[in-house]
Amino acid sequence: MKTIVLKFGGTSVGSIKRIKKICKIIQTYKKRKFQVLVVSSAMSGVTNDLIKKSKEISENFDNAEYDALLSSGEQVSCALIAGRLNHIGIKSRSWQSWQIPIITEGPHAGARINKIVVKELKAFLKTGGVPVITGFQGINKKFRLTTIGRSGSDATAIILAKYIKADECVIYTDVDGIYTTDPRDYIKAKKIKKINYNEMLEMASLGSKVMQPTSVQDAKLNNIDIKVKSSFVERSGTLITSSKKEFSDQIITGISSTKNDAKITIIGVKDRPGVAALIFKPLSKNYINVDMVVQNISLDGKETDLTFTIKSDDLKKTEKLIKQNKKISYKKLSFNKGVSKVSIIGVGMITTPGITYRMFQALASKKINILVISTSEIKISVLVSAKHVKRAVAALHKEFKLD
Ligand code: ADP
Ligand code: ASP
Ligand code: MG
Repeated sequence: MKTIVLKFGGTSVGSIKRIKKICKIIQTYKKRKFQVLVVSSAMSGVTNDLIKKSKEISENFDNAEYDALLSSGEQVSCALIAGRLNHIGIKSRSWQSWQIPIITEGPHAGARINKIVVKELKAFLKTGGVPVITGFQGINKKFRLTTIGRSGSDATAIILAKYIKADECVIYTDVDGIYTTDPRDYIKAKKIKKINYNEMLEMASLGSKVMQPTSVQDAKLNNIDIKVKSSFVERSGTLITSSKKEFSDQIITGISSTKNDAKITIIGVKDRPGVAALIFKPLSKNYINVDMVVQNISLDGKETDLTFTIKSDDLKKTEKLIKQNKKISYKKLSFNKGVSKVSIIGVGMITTPGITYRMFQALASKKINILVISTSEIKISVLVSAKHVKRAVAALHKEFKLD
């Protein structure tokens, strides 16, 4: 008998009607004699609403309470799913992370799953039952509830597939697969049938929110194939796997873009060893993720300008930390909230020269100014003004023949 993990995202369980619909999907797997485990997100909007409430209570809402609050969303959706499955004659019960347990390590709001104890789940499967498991949440050594980062239910499903030794793991969402770029932002986006872990990891990390980056990393490390499908329409989805890409003349596989980035420039910093470390140390201590970094070469060897990007949400905190930092001196600080990173991703660029030039030329032809550039083996990212993102994606999609 095959074992399958099915994960349903927020919109897939976003209303009572949707929950009834996904229970029918679960039923089809039961009819095909699968052993089914379900992982669910909170109903769409619930987690955002809880975050808003915590902010209204306090700007410095306690981290542990934040996790206790946020993890409540998944409890509701899972109980509703299990309740509906029972209603249609499928034996089911919900499990919260602490009941299993799903053990995590690391800071609140950004913990990582360390282990899932599957004994009870296995016993329940043997009796023909469908366990419905809360995504996103876990429990730490101190028996406090934790959460594993926004969109974390993807990672819960993938790690569960690992521990339960599932034959398949399907991520059900509101699009019918991974597209060359976000299909909601660009109508000429094309569905990708098969994508390898490395490309998917880059796309996810660079802003394609269809898969949570950590979950793709977990799938890659444990060699777990993932299917991404729609819970709205019955259509073939996308397979995320380790196998090399089939031959195609496509050099670029996908284009990602970010929303809500901010650029900070520190002008006239003393140019001496260790200064960058002094700037970034307090940021790292406060879990502020610094993304692109450029340092201008100083003409006189005395002073330099340092530019880097962060998430807009972290801007206030970052500004405060830099101003409080007595270990550095500089002339001026400048901030720019309305910037976005646009990236092209594809293993094909390893063997094909001239990709950087084509990317820059395509943007230049649309008069889009590049603010910062960063590259890796399989991706090139540029920072542009947020107002140019749509045009930049369209130009690059066309240039690399993805339309
Ligand atoms: P869920 O709630 O099911 O986890 P998400 O909202 O996290 O769903 O992810 C699905 C969304 O990801 C889609 O609605 C789509 O707008 C967005 N998305 C971004 N980039 C891509 C892409 N390259 N392919 C498909 N969807 C994408
Ligand atoms: N409910 C959580 C969130 O909105 C986790 C998830 O949806 O995967 O981030
Ligand atoms: Mg998601």
